[in-house]
Amino acid sequence: MDKQELDKVILSLTEGNVVAIPTETVYGLAASIQSEAALKKIFSVKNRPFFDPLIVHVSGIEMAKSVVSSWPSIANYLAEQFWPGPFTMVLPKSNTLNPLITSGLDSVAVRAPAHPITLEIIKTLNIPLAAPSANQFGKTSPTSADHVKNSFPERDFLVLDGGPSLIGIESTVVSIDEKNKLIKLLRPGTLSFSLLQEKVFKFDSEYKIEKSQKGASPGLLENHYQPEIPLVIVDKEDFSNKDEEHIQKIFQLDHLSKGVELTLSKSANLAARELYSELRSLSNTKVSYIFFKYKEYMKEESWDGIRDRLKKASSLIIDS
Ligand code: AMP
Ligand code: MG
Repeated sequence: MDKQELDKVILSLTEGNVVAIPTETVYGLAASIQSEAALKKIFSVKNRPFFDPLIVHVSGIEMAKSVVSSWPSIANYLAEQFWPGPFTMVLPKSNTLNPLITSGLDSVAVRAPAHPITLEIIKTLNIPLAAPSANQFGKTSPTSADHVKNSFPERDFLVLDGGPSLIGIESTVVSIDEKNKLIKLLRPGTLSFSLLQEKVFKFDSEYKIEKSQKGASPGLLENHYQPEIPLVIVDKEDFSNKDEEHIQKIFQLDHLSKGVELTLSKSANLAARELYSELRSLSNTKVSYIFFKYKEYMKEESWDGIRDRLKKASSLIIDS
């Protein structure tokens, strides 16, 4: 990014505006954590309910320490392993943090994103950025600048183009409870549970790590990431005319209505990168719904994050 553009972004953020920024996971709608006006704008622009807390984006460990009230040694170790990258830690929050960011909770979610433009902005501003995904609440997340522009045709904020998001789905979120030596996976992402487990045990074998129960993290709703037309997941071998009729009936479509199949690469990394972009472009075709057929290999751990997003994006699951 050239100096002039960087100055413009910094000015916009300090004046209390939001700016859409590229990250390696998805594009974010960012506000300086010190600007209450901008924080409020995030919620109004996105139509996001105030109970859904924001992730604070930092340039690295030193800045992360400024938004938490304790920085456990395990957090330091995991940050060294996985930052900058698609990994978010929920830790006790600093009491100087605006409650809008944390939805009034006493914890804060923090991560260092691995995108050169965004890292440069955070370092230059020298203030963390609170940023959720840059889309209308509940809809498909954006993985390109054009996605953001299409989601907000009447926007009055800057959209920075940093190319397509290379990861393509949101970060892996964990909570860290140092006292009880417990780590919980709150949201799966591309960083797998077993890699996390391996690192945690290597650092301190007394730690326990578990996949959290439903509803453990605020804002993790059952329905999320939804495309403009219904997504149907087909989790069975033989998808027949009868299933098609069932879909038409459920969504009150006429009997000529057709669906289009969402197909993804066999590599989980590529599939994550394609997912939201494909959902968006299929929504723009002249069909009535999208269907996706689960394959046996998608049961592998590397697909955990993708399966989670597909399930939340879907309006119907046909499994027998
Ligand atoms: P987004 O930035 O839209 O990808 O969503 C951020 C998500 O991170 C939220 O929906 C929560 O699930 C999670 N999160 C953020 N802050 C906290 C927190 N303090 N405690 C637990 N989960 C959080
Ligand atoms: Mg989001």
